[in-house]
Amino acid sequence: MLINLGDVVRLKKPHPCGGFEWTVTRVGADIKLRCDTCGHVVMLDRQVFEKRIKKIIKSVEEDINDDEEKKQEEQ
Ligand SMILES: [Zn+2]
Repeated sequence: MLINLGDVVRLKKPHPCGGFEWTVTRVGADIKLRCDTCGHVVMLDRQVFEKRIKKIIKSVEEDINDDEEKKQEEQ
């Protein structure tokens, strides 16, 4: 799974504050996430992170994906 700094992700379980969405603030051997709802920061082992993530809501590379979608629509 490709994770980039600044990506917004949704986890399988909500944070106790009720928030589902997290912003990636550090990428490395560990992934650092900030809860978009309450601002709480957690650090997860990459393996644990990949088990908990449900989907990437907003990727910093989404502009590239948009271009690909447009090309497909034109065909
Ligand atoms: Zn929270």
